Amino acid sequence: MKIVFATGNPGKLREAAEILGKGFELVTPAQVGITEEIPETGNTIRANSQQKADYIYKKTGLNCFADDTGLELDILGGAPGVETARYAGPQKNPADNIRKLLREITRRMQEASSARALGLSMVHANRKARFRTSVTLILNGEHHYFDGVMEGRIGLSPYGDGGFGYDPVFMPEGYDVTAAQLSEEEKNAISHRGKALRAMAEFLHEQH
Ligand code: IMP
Repeated sequence: MKIVFATGNPGKLREAAEILGKGFELVTPAQVGITEEIPETGNTIRANSQQKADYIYKKTGLNCFADDTGLELDILGGAPGVETARYAGPQKNPADNIRKLLREITRRMQEASSARALGLSMVHANRKARFRTSVTLILNGEHHYFDGVMEGRIGLSPYGDGGFGYDPVFMPEGYDVTAAQLSEEEKNAISHRGKALRAMAEFLHEQH
């Protein structure tokens, strides 16, 4: 089945191809003539994934899907969330994003420990985090939604060359290494996007 994946991110494309497996021919927006940046102006990750899928569908009329991911930290009250991609600014630079994330955690931890010293603390100083992905599929003009979550925590500094984005500082629950130190296969088996895309693949198989 031929299907457009609304992404220009080679890391995501590789992951999706591996997760969906044979039987799906993934096509990029550029391959169907869409070279401009697809707008992402929603207030939630679901709104953003739907906006990207709608954009492709309106321009091409082809079956397509889009994903949007947010990283949520407990200590930051769920931030960066929908701002994850441009956390450190509109240039969406992964190294800058990671630096800002580590800085913000340290700042909040210092605040929490000063508050504790004063007997004021209500803030729980942990590094718990999760990636949340929302996938919107448009199949024959109809919308379908699939979600996936990967729980974990943020490490003290970046490790590993694999994956992309925040992977070098994200340690999945049950692992003492970062997502960037896992093989692609290992990451896909537990990742937010892996879960959402496998649910989508199952749904698509049921349609045939
Ligand atoms: P988007 O879904 O492409 O908008 O991604 C939002 C942000 O999350 C970007 O900064 C990505 O680099 C980051 N991101 C998305 N998926 C992953 C992942 O699997 N690992 C690490 N970072 C990710």
